Amino acid sequence: MNIKKKIVAASLSMLLCMNISSYAPAVEALNPMAALEGALIYVIVGNEIQRVDNEEQEKMAKETKKRTGYLQNEKVQDRLKKIVKRIQDTKEVKRSYVAYVNPNKDYNAFMTIGGVMSVNKGAMDLLDDDELAYVVAHEIAHGEKRHVVNGVKKVIGLETALSVAVSDSQGVGSYVGAIASNYIENEMFTMSQEKEADELGYKYYTAAGYNPGAAASAMVIMRNTYGDHYREGLVKVISPNNHPQTGERVLKNGERLFEYSNKHVEVRKDTVYLNGDKIYKPAAVGRYTEEMRAYIMAGKMAKLYHVDGKSIPKVTVRGKTVSMNDVAIITAPSEKDAKIIGDRIQAAVTKKALSKPLATSVKNSQSSKRGESIMKKTEEILLDNSDTKRTEKNK
Ligand SMILES: [Zn+2]
Repeated sequence: MNIKKKIVAASLSMLLCMNISSYAPAVEALNPMAALEGALIYVIVGNEIQRVDNEEQEKMAKETKKRTGYLQNEKVQDRLKKIVKRIQDTKEVKRSYVAYVNPNKDYNAFMTIGGVMSVNKGAMDLLDDDELAYVVAHEIAHGEKRHVVNGVKKVIGLETALSVAVSDSQGVGSYVGAIASNYIENEMFTMSQEKEADELGYKYYTAAGYNPGAAASAMVIMRNTYGDHYREGLVKVISPNNHPQTGERVLKNGERLFEYSNKHVEVRKDTVYLNGDKIYKPAAVGRYTEEMRAYIMAGKMAKLYHVDGKSIPKVTVRGKTVSMNDVAIITAPSEKDAKIIGDRIQAAVTKKALSKPLATSVKNSQSSKRGESIMKKTEEILLDNSDTKRTEKNK
């Protein structure tokens, strides 16, 4: 059906039940009939976007791939698909998504209408599985909340919608497809949508069992690579206004980790704290900075305390590896260091949970005299580098 016919068909029912002016922000209402027609086109285009989002996944995937390119590497494609499936299989996520890796070298990812997600090869290369899972979960949150539909609607001004009506030979469907595939380079999320996606993304990826510290770690990489101003899309765009600053996103994900651990585990200045006691500041290893390793170590501990915030975990030290309830938490540079870390954790595990984050009550951590004195004695040893290998991460 062409647009003029659609307008006629829709006119009567819409006139009866709708406040047209709210759908036509840019109407120049000198001619009331033109204004009405414009408003209806706007509504029709909006409805079409919604329909494509619900029904045209395959078509959108094809168009988006055409636009971005498709990375010819099945191993990399499988790695992404597995992560998407694991998150999608949690009961938190309702829709089903198509995901693929595109060859772009920027650290980026995006979701477009139809539940089609793409991750740049640049992000696949920079992130480990747990970090990647958080980025994927953030995008899935945009899809679950239909943020993309709203964003695409926003970029279609009434004027553009009217021009479709004038040359409607292509039909609204392909018009919407074209808008959507342009959209991937310049997504239009609001600050509050971004914050919602970070919040929900955290919930989704931890529900799938990924390391609760990797969300902060993924944001550390983003901050270290691009600075504070960043937004998603196929191509990296500096955008100070509509995205939360990346430094804030690191800290916010640190707070989420603390909450997730039932207020037991926190990272402060690259150092892991347990029940208010300073435990360890890991050394940088390979691609992992001190800060990233602290979040990853804290994430492993947070997982234990999330399941059971009350009982006291069993601490064991075997060689250079410190474990809690038989889960390897950290591999230290030497057996001696591992013993010291194990002792500190042992001293801290019996303490009660904090009532608020250390970030706002750092003095609480000073109360543990024992922890502090051990800390002083061993600080230099523990700051020594060259401890764990990449294989030790996120197990
Ligand atoms: Zn986002």
